[in-house]
Amino acid sequence: MVRIRTKREIDLITTSCQIVADTLDMLSEHVKPGARIIDLDKKAEDFIRSRGARPAFKGYLGFPATLCVSVDDEVVHGIPNDRVLEDGQIVSIDCGAEKEGYYGDHARTFAIGNVSLEKRKLMEITRESLMRGIAEAESGNFVSDIGHAIQSYVEGFGYSVVRELVGHGIGTELHEDPQVPNYGRPKQGYKLREGMCIAIEPMINMGVKEVKTDSNGWTIRTADGEASAHFEHTIAITATGPEILSKGVELRG
Ligand code: MG
Ligand code: MG
Repeated sequence: MVRIRTKREIDLITTSCQIVADTLDMLSEHVKPGARIIDLDKKAEDFIRSRGARPAFKGYLGFPATLCVSVDDEVVHGIPNDRVLEDGQIVSIDCGAEKEGYYGDHARTFAIGNVSLEKRKLMEITRESLMRGIAEAESGNFVSDIGHAIQSYVEGFGYSVVRELVGHGIGTELHEDPQVPNYGRPKQGYKLREGMCIAIEPMINMGVKEVKTDSNGWTIRTADGEASAHFEHTIAITATGPEILSKGVELRG
């Protein structure tokens, strides 16, 4: 069931989204060579709790941490551990928060130290594909118009779109209907309406689209070992178009 949110509900979702965006802004100065991933996770959890919210991923289907931290060929759902970030890696950090029963979800990929031009380009194109997907999230368009915009853009650079994982509705649950694939033909699926809140999250691979799951049951990585990037925003569909609710300092201007 696709839920339509009131203005008050969108304000509550925005509050949770802002906490997540502030968390990633706070982390950005710590995400560098030598950082232990488990320490980043602790910082994020403390920060979210200090804002009167709860880490939304911790305990979700048994996930053990506040952040999903996915390095290089890891696509999403990397579990924080003792690993140390190294120069040249790209790292997706995905974070969720819940406050007063409403959820926010947001992810960015960070460059660690000096990253190759190849990886930097993958990050930039993935971020831009998210913005192009968001631009399609207008009342009257269809869910698949979002994925079509993302897929046609990134495939033009020879990249591929992960099929197994998709964006989603969000609000009083972390994952709600509809599913929001990052691929597809235009004008399929649900028609977008004012008041819908969705998380759009392209996962873009430098090589093949296929992925595999680690034996821990969580970490998804590319089948060919090539790098993958991931960006995500929670947005609301409003009368005047898509509104990004998870704006960090960069987008707030
Ligand atoms: Mg997320
Ligand atoms: Mg999500």
